[in-house]
Amino acid sequence: MPAGEDDFDSRLRREAIRWLTVRTHDGETPISWQELQDFELDGKPFRLMDAQRGIRKPKELTSALSIRTVYSADGAARPYDDEVGPDGLLRYKWRGDDPNHAENRALREVMRQGAPLIWFVGIAQGVYKPIYPVYLLWEEPEQQQFVIDPEVARGLVSPGRPVEEQLRRYIISETKRRLHQPVFRATVLRAYETRCAVCALRHAQLLDAAHIVADREEGGIAAVRNGLALCKIHHAAYDSSVLGIRPDLVVEIRADLLEEIDGPMLEHGLKGRHGQSLMALPRARAEQPDRELLEQRYAAFRAAG
Ligand SMILES: [Zn+2]
Repeated sequence: MPAGEDDFDSRLRREAIRWLTVRTHDGETPISWQELQDFELDGKPFRLMDAQRGIRKPKELTSALSIRTVYSADGAARPYDDEVGPDGLLRYKWRGDDPNHAENRALREVMRQGAPLIWFVGIAQGVYKPIYPVYLLWEEPEQQQFVIDPEVARGLVSPGRPVEEQLRRYIISETKRRLHQPVFRATVLRAYETRCAVCALRHAQLLDAAHIVADREEGGIAAVRNGLALCKIHHAAYDSSVLGIRPDLVVEIRADLLEEIDGPMLEHGLKGRHGQSLMALPRARAEQPDRELLEQRYAAFRAAG
């Protein structure tokens, strides 16, 4: 490969990652398909994501630049939801069945180069949370997939070698921190239009994406239907069963707190919400809290009170 070509490749990846970091406020805000069109290299627009395909291989490069996973409200269709290997790492499926498909070759080549990829994870229709850098560690041709690493496991694992339990736990928790949690947060906050479901507070810095029932152990990504946007206080109240949410989306406050007299947070922030409906919910029905999950959680709230 001529040196010039190699230089362009690494410069493009570096500039793309730098630009995304600025545009997303260091990963805090997601980016839309429209906004992605603003990226330029050497004063010329350069596409970072392919409109039609999951894998973007610009003609100027010999390998893939980015991969994309489209949004689905239930989370089930996402490849990384059910494709966690025994080592705790995620898998990315081939394009189709043909190992020599141009896009699969482009992934194999980026793996050979050890170059960073950008992973655009859909958090709403046409809105993405970019995760970068991610690397492809090895290929599993029988399963038609690549092993994907959000810069956690490189140098620590190799194909076919069993991973020690301690390392596996490390990989799972770091993958959660770098990939699952940011994607879940972005998805939930977006669906709730950055508002607390209980009190409608609208400051992202004061909001969390809460799980209705605990996340699965193996690091599957939680669907938006298992999420609620809650402010810090209401999240803590929900997690400690001070506050419960009925399956019909009405808030309940634990009985003993209702008897208590105290300052404005207790009076307005907690007691004042008792018997009231949630104040913010996703517009799309498919994104609203799952009734069965709410029932399960509400039963635990009743049992704790
Ligand atoms: Zn709140």
